[in-house]
Amino acid sequence: MYSDLNGKVAVVTGASKGIGQAIAIRLAKEHMKLVFNYNSDAKGAQKAVELIKDNGGDAVAVQADISSESDVKDLVEAAVSNFGELDLWINNAGMENKVHTHEMALEDWQKVIAVNLTGAFLGTKAALNYFLDNSRHGNIINMSSVHDTIPWPTFSHYAASKGGVKMFSETVALEYAKKNIRVNCIAPGAINTPINAEKFADPEQYEQTTKLVPMDRIGKPSEVAAVAAWLASNESSYVTGDTIYVDGGMTLYPEFEEGKG
Ligand code: NAD
Repeated sequence: MYSDLNGKVAVVTGASKGIGQAIAIRLAKEHMKLVFNYNSDAKGAQKAVELIKDNGGDAVAVQADISSESDVKDLVEAAVSNFGELDLWINNAGMENKVHTHEMALEDWQKVIAVNLTGAFLGTKAALNYFLDNSRHGNIINMSSVHDTIPWPTFSHYAASKGGVKMFSETVALEYAKKNIRVNCIAPGAINTPINAEKFADPEQYEQTTKLVPMDRIGKPSEVAAVAAWLASNESSYVTGDTIYVDGGMTLYPEFEEGKG
């Protein structure tokens, strides 16, 4: 537990399921107040609000597409009007779809870049403006992926977006370090969430993915959320511009295990 998080206010995008929901629950256990967005499932969002309250936090769900600047501004306003301030912004929402690059429709490319990269830019911009206008020591966490460094054929738009998120975050961290605004990334490996549900339902694909992980297992959303809570807290007060890989060693070139190569 991180006592400095008690009562603080966060926006977490894409918190209706998966890693975002695990982060919301973990921050609720730290007694934080949360604003999160949902796309269309108002009922599901209300369930998530109840879940957060049951875990010791408070929450408001707002309908917002994170690739729309005005929708993202609504999230800041919701934080301020419901909870009086904003301390932390987590750009978690993301999407992917499998397609060979030579067959990729321009719309596919644009959609993934709009949600994963432009969404992170819009969220970061909105948070920066709040922190600067209110002379706050702000904190921003962006969800990248092991594919900010590992190439991923048939997901070139996704890999490009996550590589972009990493360099964007490092640049913004440097740009605002003197204002005491921290910006870091979390790069998950293979985590068991709805984004992977179809893939992991197939035992062959599950096994294939596990083989890429030196720790020999798929990760849990709560293991990513634990890193988010640490980055959110003052325990990480001297950490900025970093990317923490939560991947069971996936980025360690597992094919070189036992001295191969
Ligand atoms: P998920 O599909 O379970 O959840 C994604 C969330 O993003 C959902 O709440 C969805 O509603 C939201 N979202 C998507 N498009 C949106 C939009 N336009 N506007 C607002 N919200 C939108 O996925 P997840 O596995 O929980 O992934 C969360 C983040 O972690 C993503 O950025 C993803 O790229 C990243 N990631 C996941 C894994 C993994 O193995 N699960 C690995 C690496 C990185």
